[in-house]
Amino acid sequence: MTQNINPTPAKLESTNPSKSFVSHLEGAIDGEHLPSNQIQTLHNDRPIWVRYDLEAIKASCSPKTFVNRESSMWRYRELLPPAPDDTLISLGEGMSPLLPCLKLAETFGLSDLWIKDESQLPTGSFKSRGLAMAVTMAHKFDITQMAIPTAGNAGGALAAYAARAGMEAFVFMPADTSIINQEECQLYGAKLYLVEGLINVCGAIVKAGKEKVGWFDMSTLKEPYRIEGKKTMGLELAEQFNWSLPDVILYPTGGGTGLIGIWKAFNELRELGWLTDSKMPRMVSVQSDGCCPIVRAFEKGERHAEPFPNAKTIASGIRVPAAVGDFMILDAIMESNGTALAVDENEIRNWQELGARASGIALCPETAACVGALESLSTSGWIKKNERVVIFNTGASQKYPTVNAKTPPTIKSADEIDWSQFTK
Ligand SMILES: *Cc1c(COP(=O)(O)O)cnc(C)c1O
Repeated sequence: MTQNINPTPAKLESTNPSKSFVSHLEGAIDGEHLPSNQIQTLHNDRPIWVRYDLEAIKASCSPKTFVNRESSMWRYRELLPPAPDDTLISLGEGMSPLLPCLKLAETFGLSDLWIKDESQLPTGSFKSRGLAMAVTMAHKFDITQMAIPTAGNAGGALAAYAARAGMEAFVFMPADTSIINQEECQLYGAKLYLVEGLINVCGAIVKAGKEKVGWFDMSTLKEPYRIEGKKTMGLELAEQFNWSLPDVILYPTGGGTGLIGIWKAFNELRELGWLTDSKMPRMVSVQSDGCCPIVRAFEKGERHAEPFPNAKTIASGIRVPAAVGDFMILDAIMESNGTALAVDENEIRNWQELGARASGIALCPETAACVGALESLSTSGWIKKNERVVIFNTGASQKYPTVNAKTPPTIKSADEIDWSQFTK
């Protein structure tokens, strides 16, 4: 059933992709060491880190090693859980473009702004990275049935990779989730349920399925490997900037795997000594004021977040009222001297248009929130004019069937157009 993504591995100069550099797994809440050769979920109800023997990685490869490798997240094989070619469940995800955005930068008085465009990944969002990794590992452990609570994009990605692997997927999403997310799950043959409630209610249903019929729980951070897939966004960014990191990164935050994974990547690269200077970016967690549990906890100086009541935002990927890895998000923000801020829910559509028009990139509403954050942080001077800033476009705007306020004119022929309005 497994399909090799490298039928002609001419370009892949892997030393030994099946060799594992994983030293152990580690409970994130208490640092307890856990074995990596068996299925792991949560430890004391909290997430688990994957840890590597960085000395052994250093002895076996260097940044140069990756140059001639395939253009996907699997080029960093030594820094990922062991997955030989013939075990990969992959759709070619990764190595998304890093695009300079001068016009958008100038809008905010900045000069060095980049967007890393994850909208071009399989299933149209960065979720494919984490699920490619997590499904590959689940498949290796002979798991056959996986279930996921989702705000939308994770469900579509799980459905796709499950189809690729020949595994069963059960997806639970809020009933008002985009029709496109619903359709992709059904297309790939996942069993889809619409739930009257938010992602936390979906999560409780998956937990019941785990207890009653033994489904494997693919919820954000409830197994150790999704973070490792998300981590590749940070590895790519470092490589694309010649192993030097930007000053500021803005990331829309829901369950937090994206931000946590990127920060983990930077720390591993620093410990490996692969960065050309000592600069670490300030990580900015961006939420909507319609759902901002992490921002509230950050403002109160707390390490754990209160569930956010009546969560409401059109940026469905960040409509996550409670995150099991809240302390991991808040630690990354604090360690990086970053910040967390909530932007005006009612302005998200305007920022989406502004960002798309100034960049040509199909910005999702979650990333539009980051455009709003960029506006306030550049105005306040928290981001300086010459600083290098990166925003992640986490998904494709095409996945969100927004009804535009303005209805375009409908015509039958050229005669109905008043051409004088277009003459220069
Ligand atoms: C899931 C999602 C997010 C939030 O990412 P987390 O890693 O869960 O914080 C942001 N944007 C989009 C488009 C998403 O699908």
